[in-house]
Amino acid sequence: MKIVHSPHMMTAWSLRLRREGVTVGFVPTMGALHDGHRALIRAARLRCDALVVSIFVNPTQFGPAEDLTQYPRPLANDRRLCREEGVDLCFEPSVAAMYPEGFQTTIAVPAIARRWEGEVRPHHFAGVATVVTKLFGMVRPDIALFGQKDYQQAALIRRLVQDLNMGVEIIVYPTVREKDGLAMSSRNVYLSPEQRAIAATLYKSLRAGAEVVRKGTTDVQAIQSAMATTIEQTSILTVDYLAVCDPLSLDPLSSVVSRAVLLGAVRLGSVRLIDNLVVVAPRTRMEQRVGRRHSPARPASS
Ligand code: AMP
Repeated sequence: MKIVHSPHMMTAWSLRLRREGVTVGFVPTMGALHDGHRALIRAARLRCDALVVSIFVNPTQFGPAEDLTQYPRPLANDRRLCREEGVDLCFEPSVAAMYPEGFQTTIAVPAIARRWEGEVRPHHFAGVATVVTKLFGMVRPDIALFGQKDYQQAALIRRLVQDLNMGVEIIVYPTVREKDGLAMSSRNVYLSPEQRAIAATLYKSLRAGAEVVRKGTTDVQAIQSAMATTIEQTSILTVDYLAVCDPLSLDPLSSVVSRAVLLGAVRLGSVRLIDNLVVVAPRTRMEQRVGRRHSPARPASS
């Protein structure tokens, strides 16, 4: 596996391969890789010829009171995981190389960034949109994979790529969870044993909301109340938001008539957990099933 620090060398490597017709895949990360990242990298490996993983803890997406300096940086382990998963190139730019003297451009995706995570972390998504734009410019991938775990981030990146005609295919990979349902995250290492024992409550609360939808309820208040009741069963969780939203715009819905995404964020002491579930109203699910039954069988190859 090649390790590259220089953005210039990164681009040269990628452009040379792409000229030869090689498909370049890309998984951007902040390191501290876990089995969720591993699954994402493995899925990317199957979809491209040459695979790049970046490890860059991006300072501009952290707020002043956030954990930038404490963010885990187990670089040797991360490189080992990348090697095990057949990554061709690990891109590890420095902060100085990413943000040299005089750097001033910011990318904004205002409507998607405004709510939920954006409300709690006001500069976060400008940092994400800018760094992803820069990384795409350096890596020049054909495809890039992002986790559904960070639903709002994935929605924002899809919008960004479409709006700026970046020509990168975005694939969103399902959330990888621990046995009890807790979404894997680099920040889970901050949880004390006591906090860890109840951390899956967020996922349980989303499941409770999804169950209400599955039973045919379209009323958002009923869905939100089912989610809140589950959280209230534990006293040490504080809710940042529990929301029922349009899956593309992330605007809050007043009723769930087709698809929706349930978004949640809670605090356990100083640790924040986020998670989400996509839900489909039973009528829509039935229509989809009937549609599939009546549509002509797809040819085996096109
Ligand atoms: P991060 O290193 O936290 O910036 O994450 C890098 C990528 O991995 C992002 O696209 C995340 O959404 C994705 N990711 C993180 N945790 C998970 C998980 N549990 N399941 C699937 N993807 C994940």
